[in-house]
Amino acid sequence: MTKSFKVRLNYDIIKEQGGEGMQLRYHMVTIEDLMPAGHFLRKLEAALDLSFVYEETAQMYSRKHGRPPIDPVVLVKYLLVGFLYGIPSERQIEQRIQTDVALRWYLGLDLLERVPDHSTISQLRRRKPGFRKVFRRLFEEVVRQCMERGLVSGRLAATDSTHVKASASRESEYLAEVPEEPGVYWERLDSYEEEGLEELACRTGRRRKKRTKQIKRDKRRTHKRVSSTDPEAGHMNRPGKPRGQHYLSHQTVDTDNGIIIGLTVTPGDVYDSAPYLEQIEHIHKNVIPLQAAAADAAYDFPLAHRVLEEHGIDFFVRPQPVHDRTAAELKRDAFSYDETQDVYLCPNGKHLKLHSLRRSASGLYWVYLADKQDCRSCPLRKKCLREKDKRGARKLEHSYFTPARQRHLARWDDADYQEALKMRQIWCEGTFAAQKWRHNLIRILRRGFEAAEDHCLLSAVVLNLKRMIRAAL
Ligand code: SF4
Repeated sequence: MTKSFKVRLNYDIIKEQGGEGMQLRYHMVTIEDLMPAGHFLRKLEAALDLSFVYEETAQMYSRKHGRPPIDPVVLVKYLLVGFLYGIPSERQIEQRIQTDVALRWYLGLDLLERVPDHSTISQLRRRKPGFRKVFRRLFEEVVRQCMERGLVSGRLAATDSTHVKASASRESEYLAEVPEEPGVYWERLDSYEEEGLEELACRTGRRRKKRTKQIKRDKRRTHKRVSSTDPEAGHMNRPGKPRGQHYLSHQTVDTDNGIIIGLTVTPGDVYDSAPYLEQIEHIHKNVIPLQAAAADAAYDFPLAHRVLEEHGIDFFVRPQPVHDRTAAELKRDAFSYDETQDVYLCPNGKHLKLHSLRRSASGLYWVYLADKQDCRSCPLRKKCLREKDKRGARKLEHSYFTPARQRHLARWDDADYQEALKMRQIWCEGTFAAQKWRHNLIRILRRGFEAAEDHCLLSAVVLNLKRMIRAAL
């Protein structure tokens, strides 16, 4: 530290057991003397250069007008110590700094210097939205430093999400009608649809039109639970998880040392798969090239297998349990696929041939159809077709991306596959547990998506800093 500390008179309060009163003793000490040599905050101060905060915030402060501002680095440190020591509110951070010499030392405040008021910090965060990018930059800066120290290799990146309670009660929820949006992978599916239609023409000799426009014209509406106090949060309803308004922190951890290398925040009603590919691609292109990725069953969606394969990233994922929702009595497993002839064989020994490529809002599917004549005279017809079937022929579908998924899942029994899943469990779940227990990842006191994102970023930053400093010991 380059700051010079004034010598202060300090006093020591001794309460005598005999009840004769209190003795005050004067000492000649500086805050520097009181700060233990091996304290974590000394190591943090030496390791983390926050000078970039001045660059990022320079245009937010006027040099001519207004009162002298709170030093933006002090503001960042103020919040950092809150997340580092699991202090949930800015009011409590202020109280802790007032009485904790180590925190004062870290913030560069002398023993009797006034601690910035918690309401001033809150106002600053609210009124200067430009300050927000500081937290994303801080996260990236810490990841960069971890990489410089060889703590991140990209050998295996494990992803998972955790819920963080929003500052909104279930009583504030109402049912809102909203337009049904195309899936997040809508644009991405465009090029695969083109490619698939070319392939369809080769395999069947039939040309089909793209369904893109047709689906985009859909005016379907859906209902969702929205909170009037925090409309940007989302109603989470997952088995085994608390119901209500939440945000989700989607994190990717490098499994060498548990450094969080990617973080996306979404409302609590978003599927885990939605931000996954963008996050993995961002890390792969901008942070560190990834060799392998691991994830639980929520990330086993066909497109992920294809995209990761194209990037040359091994994908170790727990397979999604198959739920056959066919209304007919004869389920899908009664049919077998013959790869050489590219047909499904039905229980009556007939073929279901490739017919078309179906595009939904979130996927692409090969459609196989039986011959109407075969089904009409079939003794199994009642078991095979739904009562209201208008087509008069059995239909089966499989994802356009099935081959990539099968290539990945074929390695399920391999030792490295199982090891990758074990590493995912250790690092993802262990990281969330540590963040929830010690670093404020249980609930968000502020409202709105941006506040939620800052909150999750700061929690990830302090965990990375702890792991970085511990690794340096
Ligand atoms: S109804 Fe059609 S698809 Fe089903 S078993 Fe009979 S012939 Fe096969």
